[in-house]
Amino acid sequence: MRACRQFAISKVAYGWIARAPPLTLCVQLWSCVHVGSRRIRSASVWLRAALFGGSMHLDVLFATQLVGIMSRLRSRRALTWSTRSGSPAHALHAWLLSWGWTRTSDWKWTHDMTRHSLDLTVAGKPGARQHIVRDAWRVWCLQRHMSSSRRDADLDFFDEHGYFHRIDWEATRKFASSGPEARAISTGACFSPAALGGRVDRVAETCIWPGCEEHGTVDHIAWSCPCRPSSVEIPPKPGEFLPSRFGGVVSNSRVDMVAVQSWLVHEQMTVWLHAHSN
Ligand SMILES: [Zn+2]
Repeated sequence: MRACRQFAISKVAYGWIARAPPLTLCVQLWSCVHVGSRRIRSASVWLRAALFGGSMHLDVLFATQLVGIMSRLRSRRALTWSTRSGSPAHALHAWLLSWGWTRTSDWKWTHDMTRHSLDLTVAGKPGARQHIVRDAWRVWCLQRHMSSSRRDADLDFFDEHGYFHRIDWEATRKFASSGPEARAISTGACFSPAALGGRVDRVAETCIWPGCEEHGTVDHIAWSCPCRPSSVEIPPKPGEFLPSRFGGVVSNSRVDMVAVQSWLVHEQMTVWLHAHSN
């Protein structure tokens, strides 16, 4: 991981200042890192990128580095706008445009989905600006996840009650890093018996809890099966999809996330034991 970060940063800092690295290269490089860290093959690349990629994914590093450099430059003098291909202004503008930003005037952009704004006509803290660029980039990753055909793609962040701004990325990352089960849950890498049944021979598609013959979907096993163990504390199902499916933390919600996360981990561990005993 650290080697990748150093490699990525040096490439961005020295090679790609005036030209965004091609996205396919970024995605490939990012996938390599995760093959290296024995990732589980079924994880969603976009969920994982949103979760762990903010400070490491080459694609967003390019933009945050550039915004940092521009901000530091701006604290000394006004920036000169340029639409000339190859200029840093053009490179940043092109990057922002492709990730859902709109230019409102020279050196000013707004992000449609998050309503973030980036204004390089005034002096400002580089860190704060890099943060909003990363945040907007995460939205883009989540949208990519949502537009995939995955069973778990139906995120409810952006509807009328959208809670994207309330996602506590730090706490969610902390959960994701707490163990193999949590990592699988938070990146969408777990297979329910229902999903496995279609792919692997001799694996029953039914629920894992003893005495239940229902179709073993993730939602059934975790949140609605009447045969779930009585020896374990099972919290009520959170109303939002991110906490209930991925163990993600949403601030200002009344859900007991510690209980939800430890139940999801227990459930996942049981799913794995069940798969191995088949
Ligand atoms: Zn059941």
